Amino acid sequence: MTSATIKLDNVTKTFDGRVLAVDGVTLDIAAGEFFSLLGPSGCGKTTSLRMIAGFELPDSGRVHVAGRDITDLPVHKRDMGMVFQSYALFPHRTVAENVAFGLRMREVPKPDIARRVKAALAQVALTGLEDRKPGQLSGGQQQRVALARALVVEPPVLLCDEPLGALDRKLRQQMQFELKELQKRLGVTLVFVTHDQEEALAMSDRIAVMNHGKVEQVGAPTEIYERPRTRFVADFIGEINILEEGGRARALRPEKIRLVSDGARVSGTVDTANFLGGSTLLRVSIADGRSLLVRETHAGERASRLPGDAVGLAWNDADAVTLES
Ligand code: ATP
Repeated sequence: MTSATIKLDNVTKTFDGRVLAVDGVTLDIAAGEFFSLLGPSGCGKTTSLRMIAGFELPDSGRVHVAGRDITDLPVHKRDMGMVFQSYALFPHRTVAENVAFGLRMREVPKPDIARRVKAALAQVALTGLEDRKPGQLSGGQQQRVALARALVVEPPVLLCDEPLGALDRKLRQQMQFELKELQKRLGVTLVFVTHDQEEALAMSDRIAVMNHGKVEQVGAPTEIYERPRTRFVADFIGEINILEEGGRARALRPEKIRLVSDGARVSGTVDTANFLGGSTLLRVSIADGRSLLVRETHAGERASRLPGDAVGLAWNDADAVTLES
């Protein structure tokens, strides 16, 4: 399978002349990359994806795929696979007919269609379900049909808008592994829209964190998590303590704080202890009505501290990341 680079060059989109949905977004997505657009509801993720797909035309800026300016190219000429949260399967057609759709549209010879549908269904582990209708499948299976239907035409680019949003947590995690594995195996460039930061961290090669139509930061998951550039990114991804020190904001992850008996930087009292399985998240009140989140990782079944306990806290200065704003 081939893959393609995608470039958004200073792209802006306004709706109804007043809603600035996407505000000067520039992105360079590498061929074969799993790239996520992550951010809260309304930040412009879907609109950005729809401009790559061709469903929306930017007010200004350009979209390039594989080095070619496709800004004005209609949707059906863009050669991209698409998967949505709603699956959008044809309810009265069988699984095999659903998957064959794109090949029929392209007037691929019949024997080739049969062969490629079979291969696509095998790729998403649906062999044997060819003759079912979508209503006779589980949510996860329907999502796999949608994936097979998008991938069967071997597009160099696959666009996914919250594709796992309708699945329960367990199935969602399983599909995250499967989708990532499939994407790497096929080598397709995948742009993935999600508001779920855990999902983006788990699956992506790189993430663009968006806020109010702008990209706040682009980076690998570890970079975004460990080196957030702005207060928004720090706050949006995982738990964090934002320390205000002399007019500067610095951010410290709860797992970077140690519980110590000697050499404490600050001392406080445990307010709450939320057991999370392999770790416990403690909220510790310190001076001036402030509190810090502290993650205690434990191999045993519970944390060593309880609400009401007095604790000393320490951390390394280098772990408190300076934020831009
Ligand atoms: P969500 O996670 O809720 O889908 P999103 O980050 O994908 O959000 P968009 O769907 O891109 O955000 O929307 C960005 C902004 O543009 C929002 O304020 C939204 O209300 C507005 N918007 C999107 N599509 C239209 C439209 N067709 N007409 C008018 N406003 C729109």
